[in-house]
Amino acid sequence: MHTDSAALVNSARVGEVLKDAKASFLLKGLESPESDAEWLMMSLLHCARSELFTNSDLTLSAEQVIIFNDYVERRISGEPPQYIVGEAEFFGRTFLVNPNVLIPRPETEILINEAIAAAGEPRHPGILDIGTGSGNIAITLAKEIPHAAVKGIDISAEALAVAEENKNRHHCNNLTFAQLDILKEHPDGSYDIIVSNPPYIPMHEMDGLMTDVKDFEPTFALTDESDGLTYYKRITAIAQELLTPGGWVIAEVGGGEHSNKVMDIFRSYAFQQCELSKDYNGVLRVLKAQFCG
Ligand code: GLN
Repeated sequence: MHTDSAALVNSARVGEVLKDAKASFLLKGLESPESDAEWLMMSLLHCARSELFTNSDLTLSAEQVIIFNDYVERRISGEPPQYIVGEAEFFGRTFLVNPNVLIPRPETEILINEAIAAAGEPRHPGILDIGTGSGNIAITLAKEIPHAAVKGIDISAEALAVAEENKNRHHCNNLTFAQLDILKEHPDGSYDIIVSNPPYIPMHEMDGLMTDVKDFEPTFALTDESDGLTYYKRITAIAQELLTPGGWVIAEVGGGEHSNKVMDIFRSYAFQQCELSKDYNGVLRVLKAQFCG
C-alpha cells in the first residue's frame, strides 16, 4: 500500500517534521518513536542528536522532505532504522550495515567487555570471531586491544564485504577476515580467545520474533534452523584444534533456558570456570568458559 507522504509530514521545519514523524511512529505502535525519528533525521542532516534541537527552525528542502518521507514510510513498514540509514552504533563506533548482516545489538557489548578482560594475560592474544557479520565484534576488539591479532570468519561473502568496508573505515591493521563454514571446516592455527555471537534462536521461536527482526534481518544470522545449540556444540567439538590450553570461549547466549543448555554443553567438554554474565536488562547473555586442554 502506498502511504500519502503529505499525511506523514505536514511541514518542512525540522522541529515540526520530527514531531509529525514521532506521532506517526507512535500511532503505528513502534517501540521507540522518538529515537527512531531522531536517528532518521540525524542521518538526513548528517548531524549529532544535540544539533537536532539547535536546528529545529531550519527549513528542509523539497528534496530532503521527499527523502525523509521515504525513511518514515519504510520505518512504518517495519524496516529497522539502521538499515534505512545504513549505519549502526556499537561500542561507541559507527558500523556500516545492510540486510546481509545482523544489526549489532547493545547486549553484545557485554561480550566485548569480557573479551577485553580475558585478553589481559597473553601479551599478543590471538582472537577468532566466529560469524563475524558486519565485523562489529572483530573490529571493536582489534581497536580496543591493539596488540591482539584478530581473525573474523563468516560463511557469507556478502557479509564479509560489509566487514571489509568497516575494517577500512576503522583502519585496522591487526585484523583479517576469511570466508569459512565453521560447521564443515575450521581455520588454521590456534587462538587464545574465541568470541562468537552465533545464530542461536531455535527454529520454533522464529515466528514469535518482532517484524523488524523476522522480516528484515538475515535468517541465517539469527537461527541455526534447529535447537539453537548447533554452533556451541561445534565450537566445543573443535576446541582441541582451535584453542591454546587455558584459552577462552566467550559467546553470546539466548538467556533463560538457552543459557543453561549452553552451560551444560561446555561443562560436559574440557571446560572449566564456566560463567554467565548479565546484559543491561538483567538477562544472562554471555558465556565465558576456559579450556583446560
Ligand atoms: N558478530 C555479529 C554481531 O554480533 C553478527 C552475528 C551473527 O550474524 N549472528 O552482531
